[in-house]
Amino acid sequence: MKKILAFSALGVMAALGFTQADEARTWTQAQGNKSIQGKLIKINGDTLEIVTNSNKIVKIKQSELSQKDQDWVKEQGVKAADKSTIKLKPSANQLNIVYFLGSDREPVEGYEKRLSDLMLYAQQFYGKEMLRNGFGPRSFGLSMKSPDTVNIIMYKAKGPATDYPYENGGGFKASKEVNEYLDANGLRKSQHTLIIFPTFYDDKNTDMTPGGVPFYGLGKTCCALDYKFFDIAHLGEKSPKGNLLTKWYGGMIHELGHGLNLPHNHATATDEKNLGTALMGAGNYTFGLQPTFITPASCAILDGCEVFSTNPKQEFYKQQPQLTVKPLNITCTDKEITIKGDYKSDTVVKSINVFIEEPPFGVNRDYEANTFTAKMDSKSKDFSFNIPMSEINGVKGNDFQVRLQFVFENGQLIYKPFNFKKDDLKPINE
Ligand code: ZN
Repeated sequence: MKKILAFSALGVMAALGFTQADEARTWTQAQGNKSIQGKLIKINGDTLEIVTNSNKIVKIKQSELSQKDQDWVKEQGVKAADKSTIKLKPSANQLNIVYFLGSDREPVEGYEKRLSDLMLYAQQFYGKEMLRNGFGPRSFGLSMKSPDTVNIIMYKAKGPATDYPYENGGGFKASKEVNEYLDANGLRKSQHTLIIFPTFYDDKNTDMTPGGVPFYGLGKTCCALDYKFFDIAHLGEKSPKGNLLTKWYGGMIHELGHGLNLPHNHATATDEKNLGTALMGAGNYTFGLQPTFITPASCAILDGCEVFSTNPKQEFYKQQPQLTVKPLNITCTDKEITIKGDYKSDTVVKSINVFIEEPPFGVNRDYEANTFTAKMDSKSKDFSFNIPMSEINGVKGNDFQVRLQFVFENGQLIYKPFNFKKDDLKPINE
């Protein structure tokens, strides 16, 4: 019996392509002969981010490693970093995953295994980004049926699939039904829900051109789709199925970000150069094909997200915190924007994020917003940000907005926007 179990676990790992890439390896310096053991989780410019067996991040310069290590990184580093897995802390709350069937539909074949693999990979991606950004090995919790199978709730809808299209509020209608169903049947694990719809099959949509169904975020619920080739085996493949997977899987992971409280934001200049595209910028088009990462500010929001919490006693999104922010002291030169202030609240502020962008502002006009973050962990504190102009991609004109976002321990987010003209902020003697 034991043998069979071990064999089947290996089979799963091989199917995911994890056998080779996911082993901790030994990294040795070219000079000094120091070595460490660990898994590569990110290539950040010349820096390799290695996670040790005790979940510590060690940063090593690629150029200082032995030739053998450098060759390995060149050959398989990117793939290995993407596929490596870390040991995540168990979450106190889990994301609800619902498979939404119109009354006239059946699930797409193999859905349970394909979606389980995709969700576990996504969980690792978020978890590694949280660890890299100093928030520990935490990701969204998943309710598991077995170690490699995610618990997917099958929901048979009231109406046929065409009653829930992409347009005309189809997602809203589906979301309402699903949330009522979760509550009525005691199935809810958290306030965050991912609904997956099998693609329409009609004159426009097939397994190679899936669509027709809702695909967007609706508050804490988000919608994605399933089709026959929605399979981790195609991730990074240079083929029509590989490109299709990036579109719909990258899309799902981005929409899931919205469902986990994330707004859009853009990589800073340095992060873009070293780490690639921000998931909540245009990362839905790059995930799996080109380097994609989660910004520190997005991770700070996830730090306060219900399904990332490891504390079963913490309540989320209930009480609206009281917050007062003293008028900001902002100066702006050609080199940097300096923001200083202080706040008081009745609830612990975990972090403050700063969004900087040019007009127009608002939902879906925020892809270009650059973000910066600072940890607070206090009910009242002074804060200050020095933001180099060279890090900001989007602010070319005179008008810009500084949006402070307060991330509270109960998951609430409060925005304080301030509009400025650069000219008004220049010190007089400059
Ligand atoms: Zn989006």
